[in-house]
Amino acid sequence: MEPRTAGAGQQAALRRQNLSQLLREIHVHGALSRSDLASRSGLNRSTIGSLVADLAARGLVRERPPLDKSGPGRPSPLVAPHPSGPVVLAVEMATDSLAAALVGLGGSILSAARIERPRGFRAPDEEVAGLGRLARAPLAQLHAGQSILAVGVSIPGLVRREDGFVHLAPNLGWRDIPIAELVARALSLDVPVFVGNDADLATLAEHTRGAGVGQSDFICLWGEAGMGAGIVAGGRQLRGSAGYAGEVGHMTVNPDGLACHCGSRGCWETEVGEEALIRHAGQASGDGMRADIDQLLAAAQRGAPAAHEAMATVGRWLGIGIAGLIDIFNPSTIALGGLYARIYPYVQPAILEELDRRAMSTSRRLVTLVPVSLGADAALLGAAELAFAPTIADPTTVPRREVRHRRPEPVGTAVGTHRVEPYQGGATAEQHTV
Ligand SMILES: [Zn+2]
Repeated sequence: MEPRTAGAGQQAALRRQNLSQLLREIHVHGALSRSDLASRSGLNRSTIGSLVADLAARGLVRERPPLDKSGPGRPSPLVAPHPSGPVVLAVEMATDSLAAALVGLGGSILSAARIERPRGFRAPDEEVAGLGRLARAPLAQLHAGQSILAVGVSIPGLVRREDGFVHLAPNLGWRDIPIAELVARALSLDVPVFVGNDADLATLAEHTRGAGVGQSDFICLWGEAGMGAGIVAGGRQLRGSAGYAGEVGHMTVNPDGLACHCGSRGCWETEVGEEALIRHAGQASGDGMRADIDQLLAAAQRGAPAAHEAMATVGRWLGIGIAGLIDIFNPSTIALGGLYARIYPYVQPAILEELDRRAMSTSRRLVTLVPVSLGADAALLGAAELAFAPTIADPTTVPRREVRHRRPEPVGTAVGTHRVEPYQGGATAEQHTV
């Protein structure tokens, strides 16, 4: 384990790494016993004890008796996320809804508010002012003394992660908007604001605690007005050279197709986005897009042929693009989220038919198609993961709480030898988003 010659700096770094590993296990898997933590981390029991005490002193975890006391011997206590520990504020700015939620360690939504609204372009200032109003209710649920670590924001567009700058969000009508800065000003919480693309964040959440858990090659397609993908290959989420990878909605699938908001023509999303679904159903696209989709879903449930035909057409176009993704990335699972989770039962047969027709049979046989398992909140929960990432990467950024009665720390560990260092910007978040 630790070499005897390791300096204090190295020891502190190793300890931070171990604290990070334990906190991540608890964040992802929920309550675990010390022996579970020992077997998952490969650390010995006394080290685990000291690390758990450290995380508890920072208010991140709490030990509690197990719920099930059956079985021989004294039940081993469980280490769980602290119920009134620090939280993050997760925000989802979608074309037809705005959501804000307080999310605790372990990914539990503690309090949330979401407003649905007609689709349409909104001035960024207006949007963040609306967020300020919407976030009041969830923020009012904070316990006395409970802290917010960071804000995570999901945006349907191209985002530069380092500083939360939106280069282009075609379906919001945004270009070159410093959204992290605007959100920070509107909320005045004095914590870092991290911004990510909605499909990337939905993928992050699904890979952490949804349909992609434990899979090294996983794709999540996220559709609303537009569509995008998050691609996990070899266990890492692909970012591209500047972080813009996964914009599969703008692959040309129909060279003679319709003009796209991005400036090109015949992009995949012009055949499979919300507007396309409404168009294929022969309805005029109004501005109440979600209501139109709800109506179409109701018609499909009633067995209306036009609704089924529209779903099948979107399913065929989805299948054409997905077949290409299967051949390129050879994923084991593809999860469909957002609009596609809602219409999944109606588009699935046509998608599978196209996959059988077009994808290479070797890769086709290995892939499973599923709806996302976190439902409509996948992107919101991904925004929470983004906001938690720096703390999970280095739990010592959370200060220790003053505790009056505590047993002394076990001898021979680095407890108390390292300083609490403030979090230093977004670089760490980027390295730990998968
Ligand atoms: Zn496009």
